[in-house]
Amino acid sequence: MRTYLKPEIFYQDNLPPKEQVITPGQECIIVYDIMLTEIPEFKNWLTMFEHYYGVTGGEALKSIKYFPEHFDKICRKILHASRTGLKVIAVGGGSIGDFAGFFASSYKRGVSLINIPTTLLAAIDSAHGGKNGLNSSFSKNQIGTFYFPEKVFICRKILNYLPEDQILSGFGEVLKTAILAGDSLWDKLQIDDEITMNYLWPLLPEIVDHKYKVVEKDPFEVTNKRRILNLGHSLGHVLEKQFNLLHGEAVAQGLHFTLDWSVEKKHLSREDYKKMKLCLETHFPCIKEELGPHITKARALELLMTDKKMDLDQELNFVYLKGLGLPHVEKTKVYNIIAKLFQHSWVT
Ligand SMILES: [Zn+2]
Repeated sequence: MRTYLKPEIFYQDNLPPKEQVITPGQECIIVYDIMLTEIPEFKNWLTMFEHYYGVTGGEALKSIKYFPEHFDKICRKILHASRTGLKVIAVGGGSIGDFAGFFASSYKRGVSLINIPTTLLAAIDSAHGGKNGLNSSFSKNQIGTFYFPEKVFICRKILNYLPEDQILSGFGEVLKTAILAGDSLWDKLQIDDEITMNYLWPLLPEIVDHKYKVVEKDPFEVTNKRRILNLGHSLGHVLEKQFNLLHGEAVAQGLHFTLDWSVEKKHLSREDYKKMKLCLETHFPCIKEELGPHITKARALELLMTDKKMDLDQELNFVYLKGLGLPHVEKTKVYNIIAKLFQHSWVT
């Protein structure tokens, strides 16, 4: 029987000193994104540790094809360590977390895992849900486990290095969370200025807490309770794959579409619709005029069908909105999604 224990979450300025991640007698291997070595604080921090393994983040890292080679190389570094005395520390964005999480869950049938997310998306989302995943040539994230870290460290000085486009992408996922969470978080995000890390930092605990509130209802996805986290992601995934958009940017476009459809289905009041649409448009102008003409119905269908959330009977659990803080999951035919995308000029 799998059990769920909420990880300890630390919000701090600096990367954790060695004694915060391991106790005397324990050993760890740091699995990190090699891009991080450009950050002086990270480079210094890494020198405190004996075993580390640098990887290039991205989809290639998640390919099952290359995993055995990585596995062997990491094993060679930690052969002497006992199962109970070893921790895997993942430092990087979503792909590093997925890769290192899967390694930690499978090495000697599971060793302790610590996450240090270094992108905004990972810090508010992927570092927390307990999911890891590798890709086969047929589908994304279909090889993986539910495996929760024991600790997550969110470090301000590292996140401060994020470029503007990464922060804006993360903000797409932040807005999704605020729409799911409702008034209290939503009200705090109503600014017209450019989104910065300084602005977001004090809000991170509330954003992350919301994710745990949803995850705790169904940590191992036995029921449908985590589905609401997919808000904006059906069209989002299509656009992300087709146009190489950043994830949160694609999700923001998916939110535009969800709002339009929800109000048409009379799930959502005009008043709530206008409020949410205005906020989205302030930060993510709708780009369907730019992208829509470049994706055909057939291609959109192909991308939707390869989505891992697809049911066999060709219906999808589409997340609509009934208001702020009121997501509504409804089985929807893929055909109807395509027709609606066409009607709204997202596809031609
Ligand atoms: Zn997402």
